Amino acid sequence: MGVITRFAPSPTGFLHLGHAASALFAWRQAQEEGGTFLLRIEDIDSSRCRSSYVTQIFEDLRWLGLHWPQPVLYQSQRMAVYRQALDVLQAKGLLYPCFCTRKEAVLSAPQEGDEAFAVYTGACRNLTTPPPLREPALRLDMQKACALAGPLSWYDAACGRVVEADPARFGDVILARRDIKTSYHLAVCVDDAAQGVTLVTRGEDLRAVTDIHCLIQTLLDLPRPAYAHHPLLRDEKGQRLAKRDQSLSLGALRQKGLSPQAVIEQACFNQG
Ligand code: GLU
Repeated sequence: MGVITRFAPSPTGFLHLGHAASALFAWRQAQEEGGTFLLRIEDIDSSRCRSSYVTQIFEDLRWLGLHWPQPVLYQSQRMAVYRQALDVLQAKGLLYPCFCTRKEAVLSAPQEGDEAFAVYTGACRNLTTPPPLREPALRLDMQKACALAGPLSWYDAACGRVVEADPARFGDVILARRDIKTSYHLAVCVDDAAQGVTLVTRGEDLRAVTDIHCLIQTLLDLPRPAYAHHPLLRDEKGQRLAKRDQSLSLGALRQKGLSPQAVIEQACFNQG
């Protein structure tokens, strides 16, 4: 079957040049090795996702010349599968309900000056009487989970070396949000395994959380794919391209008269 890669956009806006770069990176890794490129729609957050964006994603990717096997996997249709995965972790005593609001949960010791690295205080970890009338999120008891999993590592296919994983630095991450009952971390691990993905390609902004994904894979007894993270495209000010910046959306570039080939060249220019 060969290598299986995937592009997994969230349909919360139009794809831009950076997404094209990411999709093409996955596409090329599959093509170079006679493998398969899959598409997955990461639409667990129904308040932010729109079906019109999904339609546009298909159109944009086809315009770039990409194709993928059917059926496309929609995460919104897999809530029962995520629930089962949570049940497995719960049965191992690794989850606890967290009633903190976002504000309360924020967060003891931000590391590396980056809010994404802020760590939960653990206020709800040993709660005996839960506060009534508030839906809880489910957090992973990181210390217990790491003790159970033992040493972890993943293969960085971009650098050709094995990387030691240190998920503990993220603290007790949320695996089921109170509003959507699952999370990116849980769903991405469950679905990469379900789709037989052997090489996860994605932007370097997600490199660090690969450590969390290794832990979840081990706890759920899922296979570990290899990973290749690519640099993010940036604008002339050095800012990451964002979905809200419509000027570089693929639709806008197409309307300006750019050919798919010109967009592909622009998208891949910075990827080396
Ligand atoms: N849905 C994620 C995003 O759009 C992709 C996550 C991944 O590739 O692991 O950023």
